[in-house]
Amino acid sequence: MSKTANPTIEQIREEALAAAKSVSTTADIETLSIRYLGRKGAITQFLRNIASLPPEARPAAGKKANEVKAILEAAFAEAADLLNRSETAFEASIDVSLPGRPVARGALHPVTLIMRRICDIFARLGFSVAEGPEIETDYYNFEALNFPREHPARDMQDTFFVSDDIVLRTHTSPLQVRVMEKQAPPVRIVAPGKVFRCDSDLTHTPMFHQVEGLMVDKGISFGDLKGILTAFVHQMFDEQTSLRFRPSFFPFTEPSAEVDIRCVMCRGDGCRVCSHTGWLEVLGSGMVHPAVLENVGYDTQQYTGFAFGMGVDRIAMLKYGIDDIRKFFENDLRFLTQFE
Ligand SMILES: [Zn+2]
Repeated sequence: MSKTANPTIEQIREEALAAAKSVSTTADIETLSIRYLGRKGAITQFLRNIASLPPEARPAAGKKANEVKAILEAAFAEAADLLNRSETAFEASIDVSLPGRPVARGALHPVTLIMRRICDIFARLGFSVAEGPEIETDYYNFEALNFPREHPARDMQDTFFVSDDIVLRTHTSPLQVRVMEKQAPPVRIVAPGKVFRCDSDLTHTPMFHQVEGLMVDKGISFGDLKGILTAFVHQMFDEQTSLRFRPSFFPFTEPSAEVDIRCVMCRGDGCRVCSHTGWLEVLGSGMVHPAVLENVGYDTQQYTGFAFGMGVDRIAMLKYGIDDIRKFFENDLRFLTQFE
């Protein structure tokens, strides 16, 4: 008698039920149905094989096979139902008509905004923008700007030295010299950039931003300086902002003047920001010292000019009413994204 390796009905049942548990798509269930219940499926084969059993064993085997068939049909139907329900639930959780999640937009840094605004105003007054290195030689940072070695004015600058002859630039004024060396007059430039001084408190940071300005041509007078800076202040703040020019000293300008504006916080009544003076210092300026023009080979008989410099961070603080300069550099997004 040939003993084939036909699986028992119990083996078929176990195997099929295990397979039904691991289906992941309705197509998988279709495949299982065919494999076990189809015309050539395992149950059908089993039923056919009953004919070869001894007659007394046939009824029990037939009955058992039909029971297993019913169990498998039920198991496959249940698995299909479960899959259908989870697929429907998944589809229901996606609403393609919902608006997309907005992507948070970045914002320009307040110092960048003010820097751009300053350059825009001067661009409309005919100035072009010049840029230069943040690591400077002693010559460009001091010597060519009429700060001789050992000159006490160098002490005002709290310089970071890289070496005896190399410094982190303490102002954007070296650009005056760099531009004039390359260009014959007339010159009309603004130079925005980072500058470095060894200083840190509520109103000073070791790195801050300046915009330098320079205008050289035939017949430039202190009147031109006053006119240009007044036009700038009126556009930067407002037409009602009054200015005053106070005598001052810078080695590279003569005469020199600090420019104050009427306090933008208290309108001159006196407050904490203006130290109860009613005035705020915003600019340093003056007529370019003849020694500086001679250093770059300009004819001082023909040409005169004026220069000015301002702290961008300070103007941003006044413009936005910020009382601590360090807020600009703490990278707190809640603070930085307020300025559009
Ligand atoms: Zn004030």
